[in-house]
Amino acid sequence: MKIKYLGTAAYEGVPSLFCTCRVCRRAAQAGGRELRSRSQAIINDELLLDFPPDTVWHSQRFGLDWTKIGDCLITHNHSDHLYPEDVEMATEGYSHEHRPLHFYAAQSGYDRLREVVDFDKTAGAEVSLIEPGKRFAVGEGGKYSVLPLRANHAENTSPVIYSITCGDRRMLYAHDTGVFFEDTWEGLKQEGRYDLVSMDCTGCMEIGGPDYHMCVRDIRGVLERMRREGLVDEGTIVVLNHFSHNGLLTYEEMCREVEKEGMIVSYDGLEITF
Ligand SMILES: [Zn+2]
Ligand SMILES: [Zn+2]
Ligand SMILES: [Zn+2]
Repeated sequence: MKIKYLGTAAYEGVPSLFCTCRVCRRAAQAGGRELRSRSQAIINDELLLDFPPDTVWHSQRFGLDWTKIGDCLITHNHSDHLYPEDVEMATEGYSHEHRPLHFYAAQSGYDRLREVVDFDKTAGAEVSLIEPGKRFAVGEGGKYSVLPLRANHAENTSPVIYSITCGDRRMLYAHDTGVFFEDTWEGLKQEGRYDLVSMDCTGCMEIGGPDYHMCVRDIRGVLERMRREGLVDEGTIVVLNHFSHNGLLTYEEMCREVEKEGMIVSYDGLEITF
């Protein structure tokens, strides 16, 4: 399996629009990995995770191949993860040819996507309602087994985290969420060992959490329990992702902080094969 991080920031991006704080000034000046667009990732070049307003930018910057992309899993209905207005670009007036797009979202995101998809059928887009705890399959021949589980985040956005299995590989995409609820732990235990876990790290080392979002302090606790439950081990790749300037640390500073714990700090363009 391969995951590529296209965008790795929280809602406001880094630097945040308008902001001149130390982290934002540093990001603007250094560029490169310090610049973060809104969160999105893609698995094996074909399965999209989230649909932020920066999707156009990600497509241009990373050369997304829309002859391959058929499915998009939505984590929740916050605009940095779901920007349905841009689904309209799939209609005839904006796109001359493309594969049919299939979105999957829990209730709140589903309702918003439904409006857009129903508004103009020429989009060739479809949307399916998913529910926490109910497994479904996506991709050619249903090669991805997907288990959405309840996220600890704004309830009115119907937030989920995704456990995704393809062949003998498994990953967890846990953005945006605080420390997991008990029913989420029960679901994770049904899955078994993870090869890669991508953890919400909005607050960098110690700001925020344990509800709504996490920081490294919370993530350490979650990983400790995952280890006890047999969900992660020495071989599991741990990626920290979804950063905000509110965490008060730059990419470089985060790398230095977590290096000794073997955690990877995400950046736009990071690609990991596992
Ligand atoms: Zn977010
Ligand atoms: Zn700032
Ligand atoms: Zn959110």
